[in-house]
This record gives sequence, structure tokens and C-alpha cells, in this order.
Amino acid sequence: MERFSDETALVTGAGSGIGRATAQRLANEGATVVVSDVDEDRGEDVVTAIEDDGGSATFVSANVADSEEVQRLVEATVDTYGSLDIAVNNAGILTGFTDITDITEDDWEKLIDVNLKGVWAGMKAELSVMEEQGEGVIVNTASEAGLVGMGGLGSYVASKHGVVGLTKTAALEYAERGIRVNAIAPGPTETNIQETMTGGSDPRELPFDTTAMAEVPMGRRADPKEMAGVVAFLCSDDASFVTGVTIPVDGGQAAD
Ligand code: NAD
Repeated sequence: MERFSDETALVTGAGSGIGRATAQRLANEGATVVVSDVDEDRGEDVVTAIEDDGGSATFVSANVADSEEVQRLVEATVDTYGSLDIAVNNAGILTGFTDITDITEDDWEKLIDVNLKGVWAGMKAELSVMEEQGEGVIVNTASEAGLVGMGGLGSYVASKHGVVGLTKTAALEYAERGIRVNAIAPGPTETNIQETMTGGSDPRELPFDTTAMAEVPMGRRADPKEMAGVVAFLCSDDASFVTGVTIPVDGGQAAD
């Protein structure tokens, strides 16, 4: 069954990891997908993979930390396909492990601009379009770090708690306007995010406990496809009465 036939979906950070798996999953279920990323090669590769699988996709480059680029991305999506039915604000970066006193202002701003401002900028542009349409679904990628504190990841934890709060607020503001807004909180997932860990220390050398990130009751890391399945559920009519929630997809971490 194709749950997203005739729907247009936008996925940011879709060139890799969770975003890539999500773009592929939504396309598999019939959506036309706008694959967006700062990395053009990776993004184009995802488009090729979707098309090889019989799906429909196009790549649009955008840096989510730049609200004007995000606005143009959403406009390009609507100009090309006539609607924006599903938006997945997924792009994010990590930092090296440092305690709070060692976070530089530059590093703080860089991470918050992508992980938190990027989600706000995405929703600002998407909600306007969806409100005009009278319907739409948004899923934001938060993190286990949006639910608990994690030693060494102060800016990341702050950004992801912000995403959870923004998700709840957007859900409340738009609940009566036909738009649902939810989030997922992934636990450790096999992706390329470690490439964005610049500076900081090896977690094993830190004085504080980083086990919240390391330990998963199910004893393994997730495959990005396991995130995509939950995103697809939240985007679908199966979740028609679900809004404002952040679903932990974490092998049991949040229960611990
Ligand atoms: P990834 O690095 O594999 O993929 C992230 C993609 O986002 C990359 O293709 C990258 O080019 C893109 N990107 C980075 N900065 C961008 C920007 N400014 N504008 C547009 N695109 C940008 O990482 P991932 O693990 O798939 O991360 C996806 C999301 O999942 C992030 O929000 C991350 O915080 C979250 N997350 C990941 C994990 C994990 O263990 N991998 C756990 C919890 C949450």
C-alpha cells in the first residue's frame, strides 16, 4: 500500500543517514521527494537511488542555518510540485565532547544555527505554506539528547531540547489549522554524523558520565531505516490524531 501517493515531501539533511533513509522510505511509499542537503554529491546520489528504485525525487541544495535559503527551498518545492504535504526537518550536526566551560562561542553558534535555528526556519516556511493549503505534516529530528542531559554535549543537548519544545509549541499553534507536528528522538544510529565531531575529547577521557549515550538496552545501534519507519508512521494517516509528541526510537534508552 502506498500511503503517500500524490504527496510532496521535503527532507532536509537527506544526503546521508537518517535523512537519506527517510527520503527513500517516503519515496517507496509513493511520495515525490525533494532531497535537500548542503552536500550536493550525496544528495544527488540519493536522488539516483530513489529513481533506480522506481521513485520520484529531485535535489535542491540548502543550508538550513540560512533562513533565506530555507525559504527559497520551500518556495522551489511548491513552485515545482504545487504543494508541500510532508516536511521532515532532519539536518543536524554534532560536536566533539567538551564540558560547558570549554564550549567556544563560535562552536555554540554554529551548532545552534544548524540544529535549532534550522528547525525553526524550516517550520516557519513550511507552516505558512501548509496553513494556506489547510493541511500538512511536519516531523522534526530531535534526539535522545532532547530528553535527557548528556555530559560533554551541552550545545547539542540544548539544541535538541529546543527542538522538542518547538515541536510541542508548533503542534499547539497549528492543531486547529489541519497541521500535525511531531518529532522523533533517535538513540545511537549508524550514520555519518561522527564526521561532524570536530575538536573536543575522546568521551572515555572525560570526567563526567557519558554512558547515557553509549548504553542502549537493546545492545546495538539503530539502522537509519528504523528511524525512517517511525517518521513514515508519523507522516501517515495512521497517526492522524498524533501531534506534539516526540517518540523515542532508541532501543529502550528512554525507559532506563
Ligand atoms: P549524517 O551526518 O549521516 O546526516 C546528516 C546530513 O545533514 C548530512 O548529509 C549533512 O550533509 C547534512 N547537513 C549538515 N549540516 C547541514 C546544514 N547546515 N544544512 C543542510 N544539511 C546539512 O547524520 P544523521 O545521524 O543521519 O543525522 C540526522 C539527524 O539525526 C540530525 O539532526 C542528528 O542530530 C539526529 N540524530 C542522530 C543520531 C545518531 O546517532 N546518528 C542520534 C540522535 C539524533
